[in-house]
Amino acid sequence: MLPYGRQSIDPSDVAAVVAALGSDWLTTGPRVAQFEADLEAVTGAPCVAVSNGSTALHTAYAAAGIGPGDEVITTPMTFVATASGACLRGATVVFADVEDDTANLDPAAVEAAVTPRTRAVAAVDYAGHPAEYDALRKISERAGAVLIGDAAHAIGSTYHGRPVGTLADLTTYSFFPTKNLTTGEGGAVASPRPDLLDRARTFRTVGLVRDPARLRYPDEGAWHQEVHEFGLNYRLPDVLCALGSAQLRRLAGFKRRRAELTVRYDALLGDLPGLRLPTQREGVDPMRHLYPVRILDGRRREVFDRMRAAGIGVQVNYIPVYWHPVFEDLGYRRGMCPVAETFYAEQLSLPLFVDLTDADQDRVVEALRQILGS
Ligand SMILES: *Cc1c(COP(=O)(O)O)cnc(C)c1O
Repeated sequence: MLPYGRQSIDPSDVAAVVAALGSDWLTTGPRVAQFEADLEAVTGAPCVAVSNGSTALHTAYAAAGIGPGDEVITTPMTFVATASGACLRGATVVFADVEDDTANLDPAAVEAAVTPRTRAVAAVDYAGHPAEYDALRKISERAGAVLIGDAAHAIGSTYHGRPVGTLADLTTYSFFPTKNLTTGEGGAVASPRPDLLDRARTFRTVGLVRDPARLRYPDEGAWHQEVHEFGLNYRLPDVLCALGSAQLRRLAGFKRRRAELTVRYDALLGDLPGLRLPTQREGVDPMRHLYPVRILDGRRREVFDRMRAAGIGVQVNYIPVYWHPVFEDLGYRRGMCPVAETFYAEQLSLPLFVDLTDADQDRVVEALRQILGS
């Protein structure tokens, strides 16, 4: 089965991991700080490495001080962790609808969802296409809310010349193998605000405080450390950070190949009836994580099943988050975000990854052409 996404590992990645394994550190050693510095060169903001993209979101909500009684406005067109990270902090999630072209959070819908309890707005850069951060920034500032960007799809994307990572108060990343670069499991939180990044770092390390200036009992002894707020062990080990730094050195090449494959899909599928292709707004330069087409005429399920039967691992990204039974059981009802629900009903992700060959891509196009033509 041709997958819809997969990692690209070359000898430089293997050598980096082997070198880390032979060093004095397996977990928090020099490669963590190095990976965080390498990430900052891409994201434009200081970073904290964490264990995965879901814990990155949990960490971001903790850093933002999100808790019971707070409302977090987010998109339903995402992986569940964008919302569940806020729920795990005891907050209430409010879903705002998406825009029809990008499937990104609609600023007008966010505006309409703001209440006096709104404490955060969490956008997603769906498929790698940045959300409308300038508009979202204005709304969140007026609401006194923290702006969070779930950039699990979008490391390396830019928006009006500015990198994803500098656009929100907190930006989260995932380095799962299907994403734009991998550390196996892994993630990061970026923030241009030192106070927020500091809280993220402390939460990621079980809440432990070691800085003498911050200790309540500074004279206890050199061994002393304190917990002031609860945190978790969400550290990313040295060995995986070594892989992350090696992957980052290849990121520009990853972006180039993903763009090339996107242009090729656009050209090869442009004349196919019953299909809507992804678009790109003015002023953005996306890292293309997904190639999300829309299958019209109610044929998505059929096309999905027939592509899979042909050995092509298409995927659907995503069911609207509030359709998950955990949200249904909390009283969320279908029909809340009609644009997202229509998008979901038609959405299909075609294979897109760095080592996808032109010949593989031709096979995907041919299979789709045959199914849609019959
Ligand atoms: C993958 C993903 C996550 C979660 O990342 P993991 O590393 O798998 O925990 C969160 N949000 C979005 C949009 C994702 O695609």
